[in-house]
Amino acid sequence: MSARILDGKAISAEVVASLAPRIAALSRPPGLAVVLVGDDPASAVYVRHKSKMATRLGLSHQQITHPASLSEADLLAEIARLNADPLVDGILVQFPVPKHIDRLKVLDAIDPDKDVDGLHVVSAGLLSQKRPGFVSCTPAGVMELLSRTGVSPRGADALVIGRSDLVGRPIARLLEHADATVTVAHSRTRDLAAHVRRADIVVAAVGVPGMVKGEWIKEGAVVLDVGVNRMPDGKLVGDVEYAPAALRAAWITPVPGGVGPMTIAMLMANTVLSAERRLARG
Ligand code: NAP
Repeated sequence: MSARILDGKAISAEVVASLAPRIAALSRPPGLAVVLVGDDPASAVYVRHKSKMATRLGLSHQQITHPASLSEADLLAEIARLNADPLVDGILVQFPVPKHIDRLKVLDAIDPDKDVDGLHVVSAGLLSQKRPGFVSCTPAGVMELLSRTGVSPRGADALVIGRSDLVGRPIARLLEHADATVTVAHSRTRDLAAHVRRADIVVAAVGVPGMVKGEWIKEGAVVLDVGVNRMPDGKLVGDVEYAPAALRAAWITPVPGGVGPMTIAMLMANTVLSAERRLARG
């Protein structure tokens, strides 16, 4: 078998196109503020991509950049200012933040009503209880890839490798809500290969290049590779050995061009949703 591509570039373009009429129907453009602290090169690239897409969609967009020396108190004050700004519908602080800043304090400071990155404890709680709220962008993007390609998780044995608050855990929740039977693997999992061999859906969210061997993939499985790893030659690769996995899978996401573009599209979707909700409340 040779896998079909879960094409994040094409599907994210569909998602973005579907937002244009919703934006046009609003009385003002949705407002997104992206805050970057420090000079992590990968973060700078992510923020640039987000800004470019926000501008393309006609969002009212502020990119706020601070040096790594910014104090925690000043960052919290910035977030308070954005919380109070009626024209800002979404606030995203790009992680990681420098070590002297407490990540949880930053997340807690964001108004849950503007938590378009879906990482606030309120958003996580709403997701856990399957109540409407902001779903973090990469997990939402993974589910959108599946639904827009007509791949149903219902009844499937799904394996999520990784249990971070950002990616693995919310993906596991969403797959469970979509009626998959979900196993979560992590660094203490004893026999990862055996779990992968049983899985109809494999989501890899670890950050170790090629750790999921192609030969482990079940014939006909769906493989979603969230991992983004930069190799010494500058190339980006995922957590799954792509070529041998693609020989066995029914569907697979490439890296790059799979989950990555979906993350940005879902951030835009969450920002539009936030503006719609806030404007409807008046
Ligand atoms: P993270 O916070 O470092 O979490 C990694 C997870 O992998 C942890 O749960 C860890 O287990 C698990 N793990 C580590 N070694 C393992 C092993 N040998 N076997 C099984 N599990 C193992 O990373 P993250 O933020 O979730 O990100 C994961 C990857 O996704 C990274 O490559 C990141 O760059 C990428 N990412 C991509 C996007 C996108 O838009 N495409 C967005 C976000 C992240 P423990 O819990 O036991 O430590």
